[in-house]
Amino acid sequence: MAAFSRTNLSMTLDTTPSDAPSPPDSTVSCANCQACCCRLEVMLISDTGVPERFIARDRWGSQTMARLEDGWCAALDRTSLSCTIYENRPWVCREFAMGEHECLSERAANL
Ligand code: SF4
Ligand code: SF4
Repeated sequence: MAAFSRTNLSMTLDTTPSDAPSPPDSTVSCANCQACCCRLEVMLISDTGVPERFIARDRWGSQTMARLEDGWCAALDRTSLSCTIYENRPWVCREFAMGEHECLSERAANL
């Protein structure tokens, strides 16, 4: 599901070998997933151009991606399981790295 793949950012960290993060699991792909991470709450903490119809606000004005009754993000195409706003997806979605700990955790819980 190439159009869906999260940006796997390579970060330069000031780490020693002992605390370096483990490499991502290369066997994991969004193509063999079911958009597990698109059921998580996604806070909007910067303006990336998410269309208003996909934004939920609480009483204090905090913004998150709206989710529908099935639990998935409102911006997910239910047929292709791809993100319909990929170019404008929130920062949190851009940072969620395929094959790393949080991804593996969501897959273990939902696949
Ligand atoms: S949980 Fe991981 S593999 Fe599944 S869609 Fe999200 S980033 Fe892709
Ligand atoms: S904005 Fe796109 S990538 Fe982020 S949770 Fe929604 S469907 Fe998934």
